Amino acid sequence: MLLVKKFGGTSVADAECIRRVAQRVREDADAGHSIVVVVSAMGKTTDRLISLAQEVNGDPHDREYDQLLSTGEQITISLLAMALHALGVEAVSMTGPQAGIKTDDSHTKAKITAIEPERVQENLNDGKVVIVAGFQGLNPSSDVATLGRGGSDLTAVAMAAALKAERCQIFTDVDGVYTADPRVVGPARKQTMVSFDEMLELASMGAKVLQSRSVEFAKKYGVELEVLSSFEHKPGTLVKEVSDMEDVLVRGVAADKNQAKVTLRGVKDTPGIAARIFTAVAQAGVNVDVIVQNVSDHGETDISFTVPREDIKRVRELLTAMSELELREIQYDDSIAKVSLVGVGMRSHTGVASEMFKALSENQINIQMISTSEIRVSVVINEGLADTACRALHTAFGLDAEPTAS
Ligand code: ASP
Ligand code: MG
Repeated sequence: MLLVKKFGGTSVADAECIRRVAQRVREDADAGHSIVVVVSAMGKTTDRLISLAQEVNGDPHDREYDQLLSTGEQITISLLAMALHALGVEAVSMTGPQAGIKTDDSHTKAKITAIEPERVQENLNDGKVVIVAGFQGLNPSSDVATLGRGGSDLTAVAMAAALKAERCQIFTDVDGVYTADPRVVGPARKQTMVSFDEMLELASMGAKVLQSRSVEFAKKYGVELEVLSSFEHKPGTLVKEVSDMEDVLVRGVAADKNQAKVTLRGVKDTPGIAARIFTAVAQAGVNVDVIVQNVSDHGETDISFTVPREDIKRVRELLTAMSELELREIQYDDSIAKVSLVGVGMRSHTGVASEMFKALSENQINIQMISTSEIRVSVVINEGLADTACRALHTAFGLDAEPTAS
């Protein structure tokens, strides 16, 4: 069986962790499996590299930023190869470019455009464990590009798809996907299975177990994922197509504290204005999430929207430069959180939103914005109330108790 196994930063944080990963890989190799291992940078290496960059230049060029960040994963691959050699396992390390991972030219959040896995395949055929650096690939200018934070998950899924691996296992510091963040919600429970769509919503809503782009990719190419603990030997959570799963109403609660709210006051209420604003924001590579526009008053309206907190500086610069909009005021609020309920059962049931608002009101939590999808209801609230909201919703939707078999 061909396995792609991905180990995140905490799983390879120091030499001892790396030896433990090597041991675990050896068990699978001894069992006769072909193995590709994808690794992240050790511990907080990527964060450290980012702050180093900031110390020498507050606004580094994207190319150099990627050049720097990609080194984190390169440390891990070579060390893991050495650790496997020490156990007598044949292994070879490869950077993203060496492994044939091609990207587009958008530095710092590049998309994978193709994988040419021949070299990886040859080494697998020779019976070697192939260790691939996550989070990077080669762009059209033959420069190294990184895939965005958490991008090693994407490397693993894309590799699994390209090699038609039987399974893609994501080893991490949590042992699966929970009904809520167990550090915040005491009674949170580990799920046996979640659907791709639910995982996608949960991931993009701030459940940081898997990077959302990796889940999209897995869904598109039908790569079954397993999220499991790198520290314990026990089953994790399977992420797969929904067909054979029970349609629960609410699968989980997630909070995203990484958003900021922008409010534009006195926006001219004429066709084309919103298009101008959001085209500019999109062209700056900023993902807008929730958008709310008020009713018009004397030809003017207010528009609020949320963006990732890290992009607020970019958005601020861009909106300030658009003086032709003649806005009355622009407000920024980075003390918000988005709390979401997710479940495929919402496709066929009503009343989730009203139940949610009721539970929030009973806890005196004010709702600033609301957005929904087919299988999700999200509210933007004050960041300081996010934990309370998660606990209240977890209880209100019956997630505290084990589900009864249906
Ligand atoms: N090292 C990168 C990060 O910290 C990629 C990853 O870990 O997935 O975001
Ligand atoms: Mg990660």
